[in-house]
Amino acid sequence: MRDRLYQQLSWQIGDVSITRLVEVVLIAPVGSLFPGRTADELEPCARWLQPNFLSADGNIFLSIHAFLIRAGGLKMIVDTCAGNGKDLPLFPEWNNMNTPFLENMTKLGFAPESIDRVMCTHLHFDHVGWNTRPVDGKWVPTFANARYLFNKTEWEFWKDHDDPYGANTIEHALKPVINAGLVDLVDTHHRICDEISLIPTPGHTPGHVSVLIQSKGAEAVITGDMFHHPCQMAHPEWIDMGDISSDVAEQTRLAFMQRFGNRPSLVLGTHFATPTAGHIVSDGKGWRFDT
Ligand SMILES: [Zn+2]
Repeated sequence: MRDRLYQQLSWQIGDVSITRLVEVVLIAPVGSLFPGRTADELEPCARWLQPNFLSADGNIFLSIHAFLIRAGGLKMIVDTCAGNGKDLPLFPEWNNMNTPFLENMTKLGFAPESIDRVMCTHLHFDHVGWNTRPVDGKWVPTFANARYLFNKTEWEFWKDHDDPYGANTIEHALKPVINAGLVDLVDTHHRICDEISLIPTPGHTPGHVSVLIQSKGAEAVITGDMFHHPCQMAHPEWIDMGDISSDVAEQTRLAFMQRFGNRPSLVLGTHFATPTAGHIVSDGKGWRFDT
């Protein structure tokens, strides 16, 4: 089971290769992610949620992983997980972690110094953690030769707001890279290279973006936290505990499924457990995730 949750997965989209690198997987009660919701409510979806996304005893899987991308001569990491040595008092499983994440990146041909772009879909702690690493008691940029891309609206919001998870993200993971001059504040439709661009998917956070990959007629999209779990395809109204604007988040989920549902577009879930990728297909009046 553990091997399957942490296995290395790769996808080829035209000329673009994408590899999943898992930092940690959580198995948790439905209500811990979706306040007030229960596993019983997922019974009608169990036929497609089990066994990959919902355990037989009604817990959900939540995978924290990065996507490592090669496109047009660039090496890129999309979302940098929670990181090592971070003080995360609200999340015992993630508190002061010590994982071989960077060693694993290097083994996959993505040594930290070789990274050209770091794209954070939003600025919650589990998407920016490896932006920095601790060296001699200070937080220093992990990817010293990269441009870090943050959405302008997202940074404008977080620079004036306390981290809701007590993670002190601004000091640990954002200011050190900004002060080092490594950050480009980009707009919500920014094009990173010929094959990769951003699309706005606000709601979870104000400047949340998803990452669209198009090459040689093939298409994939990285969700970020617009969806935390595939069950939200059947229940776009389910509010994740981190959604800042729940109405906008629901509208964004619905619009995204209208755009990418019943199409060959491969959807890569930023917190979806193995197999992580699949297609959105209509299911009665709603949608489901087909893997
Ligand atoms: Zn997240």
